[in-house]
Amino acid sequence: MSAEEEAFYLCPACGEEIGIPVDLSGGSEQEYVEDCPVCCRPVLLRIHIHGEGGPTITAQTE
Ligand SMILES: [Zn+2]
Repeated sequence: MSAEEEAFYLCPACGEEIGIPVDLSGGSEQEYVEDCPVCCRPVLLRIHIHGEGGPTITAQTE
């Protein structure tokens, strides 16, 4: 079984849909900054992992 699940967010800077692997063992609330692979701008990601339905991501620019 994998401890990772792919989740998607819309980059707030360029509007592209980005898929990232989410580490499900990292806790139910995670927050980190990652550069958008499309426009290379830093995006603050807040990840909420619920028991069912997979992770949800809120993205905003710094
Ligand atoms: Zn972007």
